[in-house]
Amino acid sequence: MIYVNRSAVVTGGASGIGREVARALAERGAAVAVADINLEGAEQVAAALVQGGAKAEAIACDVSRPEQADAMIARAIEAFGKVDILVHSAGVGVERSFLDTTPEEWQRILDIDLSGTFFCGQAAARHMVERGYGRIVNLASTAGVRGGTGRAAYGTAKGGVIALTKVMAVELAPHGITVNALAPGAIETELVAKMHSAETRTVYRAAIPLDRYGTPEETAAAALFLASEEARYVTGHVLAVDGGFLAAGVMHR
Ligand code: NAD
Repeated sequence: MIYVNRSAVVTGGASGIGREVARALAERGAAVAVADINLEGAEQVAAALVQGGAKAEAIACDVSRPEQADAMIARAIEAFGKVDILVHSAGVGVERSFLDTTPEEWQRILDIDLSGTFFCGQAAARHMVERGYGRIVNLASTAGVRGGTGRAAYGTAKGGVIALTKVMAVELAPHGITVNALAPGAIETELVAKMHSAETRTVYRAAIPLDRYGTPEETAAAALFLASEEARYVTGHVLAVDGGFLAAGVMHR
């Protein structure tokens, strides 16, 4: 898959899955805007991409703020002339039981994980509609597909991302824009380091047929497919990258 002459915005590009998506797209020829609330982190990633010979920009953006999402897309257009691809990987997680989730936590997770997907997708799609081309890949989660403990706000937000992805896919199809989501299971990133207690890790491992957590590289590979020209007939799909977690339920051994 080649991304030469493509320009991409990767939110959450300073860390984890987003950072790996940015790197993989740049390596294959795309110009990449690395957007993150952590500007310093985004600058480090962008600098490494430029050093590797790619076109890259760091953009500060809090995805939960619609005006910042608009400004992020405007800045990427200013830098590269267009945005062909949005991979929306910015997100936060929390492991908290339904009964213990506070209103503040609930709101924060929904603002960043769900509303952020809406704001960034809308900002990118408005530009893509004008050009009649676009690839949008949202980061959902297996937590948005099935239940589990400690995922009241996070699972709700990610379930919303899946529903929004399907609506976007249908409404944007006439404009040459595909919209898909990834549903990663447990991927070794900074987010999981914060979210998964030792006990959670043991429970998860036992429920993953491939018997290990995934890597950001393995997740990025799936995002790159959905963002590619080759995936032009795939839209409204939710692709699990989970080592078989969703397929198995818990009783696989
Ligand atoms: P990560 O913590 O490594 O990276 C997330 C990035 O998002 C960080 O750089 C962070 O600064 C940025 N971010 C947070 N809030 C932001 C905001 N308001 N505006 C802009 N940027 C913001 O996490 P990750 O594991 O790479 O996760 C990426 C995405 O994949 C998230 O949406 C996450 O929910 C989803 N996901 C991850 C896993 C996993 O196992 N790692 C599983 C399922 C889904």
